[in-house]
Amino acid sequence: MDSYLGLRVFEGYALGKIAVYQTVKVEKSVGLGAEAEFERFEKARKDCVAALDRSYMDTLAKLGEEEAQLFATHKLMAEDLDFEDAVRGELLNNVSAEYAVDKAGAMLAEMFSSMDDKYMKERAKDVREVATRIIAFLRHEENGFSLEEPSIILCEDLPSSELMKLEKKMILGIVFTKGASNSHVSILTRMLEIPSMCGVDNLEVTPELNGVYAVLDGMKSELILKPTYKTINDYSNRKKEFEAKKAELQTLKGKPTVTADGHQLHIYNNIASSYEVENAIRNDAEGIGLFRSEFIYLEANDYPSEEDQFTHYKRVVEAMNGKEVIIRTIDIGADKKIGYFDLPDEENPALGFRSIRICKARPEILAVQLQALYRASAYGNLAVMVPMIISESEIDFVHEMAAMARENLTVRGIPFNKDMKIGIMVETPAAAVLSDIFAKKVDFFSVGSNDLTQYTLAIDRVNPNLGSSFNPYHRALCRLIKLATENAHKAGIPIGICGELARDPKMLPFFLAIGVDELSVSPAYTLTLRDIISKIDTREVDVDSYIN
Ligand code: PEP
Ligand code: MG
Repeated sequence: MDSYLGLRVFEGYALGKIAVYQTVKVEKSVGLGAEAEFERFEKARKDCVAALDRSYMDTLAKLGEEEAQLFATHKLMAEDLDFEDAVRGELLNNVSAEYAVDKAGAMLAEMFSSMDDKYMKERAKDVREVATRIIAFLRHEENGFSLEEPSIILCEDLPSSELMKLEKKMILGIVFTKGASNSHVSILTRMLEIPSMCGVDNLEVTPELNGVYAVLDGMKSELILKPTYKTINDYSNRKKEFEAKKAELQTLKGKPTVTADGHQLHIYNNIASSYEVENAIRNDAEGIGLFRSEFIYLEANDYPSEEDQFTHYKRVVEAMNGKEVIIRTIDIGADKKIGYFDLPDEENPALGFRSIRICKARPEILAVQLQALYRASAYGNLAVMVPMIISESEIDFVHEMAAMARENLTVRGIPFNKDMKIGIMVETPAAAVLSDIFAKKVDFFSVGSNDLTQYTLAIDRVNPNLGSSFNPYHRALCRLIKLATENAHKAGIPIGICGELARDPKMLPFFLAIGVDELSVSPAYTLTLRDIISKIDTREVDVDSYIN
């Protein structure tokens, strides 16, 4: 029995045989001549484009427009003239079309990787994927990877197109040894709710592993190869319990979130794209507590227009049908850099030019975003929240910008909700310490516990070497959250928590006992949280133990 640890993609258990997915290897070989090989390439590319159209339609039906969009991008890449020229150039060396496509794909991928823009960098993987798919058609292996029986897929990484071709019931789980938890295929895997893990550095993906029995523990992100009979038995019981619990949780849909002693609060969801709202609705979110709007900017090649943004915001607001939707204004900077923003290089990006600071220096960016937000406010219950606030003058600046956006729309005769709520994130120690003053100037608070931990403890949240010191249970942090909650309530405004801590069972009793009004978490945790909360009696919570 061998065991390998990795990182979480999606929780759950899987028991079954391994099916190995390996990337095609292309050897250099002599072709039939440049013209004949180019004809082979053209035919394979045409078939590939037709297959991409099918993948687009399939994904559109299963997961929606945003996920399907990837295949439209792949189609553009397959038809791209630069790609075609690169293949032609390679064929002049009297090589096979397979080899020419492989080389052309690698060359363009290299070019994308060397770009500064994050969006363009990520296209490197796509161009490689497109080349691989054309090569499969050249080899008449277009049906590629398939599963004969329900299996745990083991791969270094898996092209999204391969995943979407498979029937969901045939995929017990997925282990990506090289993938990242936020890669596109990982996001799709989560949306399909497949137990999965990634980043298993010490496991080599070899064909010998095909058919080997394995257990995937998506809770611990552990893969166990050749488990003992006892381990199989133990995990099959855990899986049954997990699935029974999941089914039981469905009965909580439509019910309010109430503690054992009768305090009601709200579970909202965090989303990063307007399409994810469907996930939130499926999981019975009572609202959207954090829409990270910067992802609209991160996915674009240039500043998204007012119209583009309005379309996204309106989609979410309308889908939530009167429930509150809190959209955060851009949180660009620190670990989220965008090429077209042309931000300066900084010694300490986490302490540098970020979110509201960028907006103050370049108010035209916030002006467009606020106009789009106010426009969307006419379609439901929309509120706006501003990240990284440290001073009253920043809040005043936001109010001035909001007044200008309202005036702009009034002049243009566009309807909007003039009373749209404006709140701030409490994610700097300054905001928590001054929360009595800030609470009088805004409509609500939302604690960003990820950054509040980072800035309170002076520990970089993305530095893997400091992971064990990143202690979100630190008393200093608990005191700041308690202070902000008391000050919010004194001023008569609500306070929510939207960082990762909002779903931490260890912290829930504390949050409930100090009277936090709303918790915002990833859609998959909504019902679990409602269940845990229903068992907590706030009268029994020892608040002192969290802060002293
Ligand atoms: C936070 O800081 O806790 C938060 C919710 O915002 P982000 O993780 O996007 O910085
Ligand atoms: Mg934050």
